[in-house]
Amino acid sequence: VLPTVALVGRPNVGKSTLFNRIAEERISIVEDTPGVTRDRIYTHAQWLGKEFSLIDTGGITVSDLSLNQEIKTQAEIAINEADIVVLVVDARVGVTNEDEAVARILYQAQKPVVLAANKADNLAQRQDIYDFYALGLGEPYPVSGVHGTGMGDLLDQIIKNF
Ligand code: GDP
Ligand code: MG
Repeated sequence: VLPTVALVGRPNVGKSTLFNRIAEERISIVEDTPGVTRDRIYTHAQWLGKEFSLIDTGGITVSDLSLNQEIKTQAEIAINEADIVVLVVDARVGVTNEDEAVARILYQAQKPVVLAANKADNLAQRQDIYDFYALGLGEPYPVSGVHGTGMGDLLDQIIKNF
């Protein structure tokens, strides 16, 4: 059985983009509308020869739940199904209440969490991610799912936990 890595985070932070980037295939549908998901949610991936399963929990939609409840449910699914959870946040927006709500759920899990500050597309944005330490989940790793920068450091940190 392969280690399982789950991407969690509020809509539109770039989970599907990172999922595709890590899978290195265009297999997940990226939508501009927050909360609109028709994504493929499981893929097989590898980094430095270490194989793992990747889950995009943003693609798991639960109807009849408020957006906030849906994000929390996705975090709980990630905790239950994954060995390592990657919390994705938006470096351009900064810390939001929803990020804090997900972080609180993740504290309760006895699972390693890696914090990915996505949309850090340029040097200034990569240097401006320190507010995310306030989430209490350790070092934020700046990445750009669109440009592919920072992915190596993020993946190194993920596979360290295998
Ligand atoms: P999800 O809802 O968390 O799955 O987010 P998506 O992957 O669907 O991305 C939401 C929007 O953010 C899309 O318009 C993406 O193109 C955009 N996006 C994703 N990653 C980045 C990034 O690294 N930089 C920028 N500038 N935009 C991004
Ligand atoms: Mg998505």
